[in-house]
Amino acid sequence: MIPMGLEDYRKKRRFDVTSEPSGQKPPRRPKGKALIFVVHKHRASHLHYDFRLQWRDVLLSWAVPKGPSLNPSVKRFATQVEDHPLDYAGFEGVIPPGEYGGGTVMVWDTGTWTPEVPDVDAALDAGELKFTLNGKKLKGSWVLVRTRGFKKSPRPSWLLIKHRDAYATDHDITIEEPRSALSRRTLAEIARDEGGDVARAPTGDP
Ligand code: MN
Repeated sequence: MIPMGLEDYRKKRRFDVTSEPSGQKPPRRPKGKALIFVVHKHRASHLHYDFRLQWRDVLLSWAVPKGPSLNPSVKRFATQVEDHPLDYAGFEGVIPPGEYGGGTVMVWDTGTWTPEVPDVDAALDAGELKFTLNGKKLKGSWVLVRTRGFKKSPRPSWLLIKHRDAYATDHDITIEEPRSALSRRTLAEIARDEGGDVARAPTGDP
């Protein structure tokens, strides 16, 4: 898979209005440093989770409506969306109403990831990427599998699935650990602190 580039990301945003990063700064990635991942919880028109893996100086990104599941028998639908700049990984706050993705954004989980395949680009091309997460909430082995028909769609469909290992469980981590991995805030608290929609944001909290 060829990374989608940041053009789509920039086209959709007005950086004089939103506080999201533009990705214009050169990415800081010291050689040999671990790859980062982040899961944003995003109360936009619909609540969803944005699953992002650092690869080749961007964040490959998937929108996961129900969020990740630690239960290996549960496959979570994940729509691949435009790559995001690396400095987006630390973004938590409010996107103004009417702007692209308008709503409240939380860093729900963050950490590092390790490919379980020798060639990440080949794995993405083939539509099956196995990897290990070392986050604050998400750990252990996972896989992203692309579903059929992806060539017809600008937004390919994938499934995010937990592998069976010591971190697999049928507990619902989105309910048990709803707070920010960075600030420990709920969506309601982020909206209150950052001037967001204090009526709508709490509907994304359990
Ligand atoms: Mn989103």
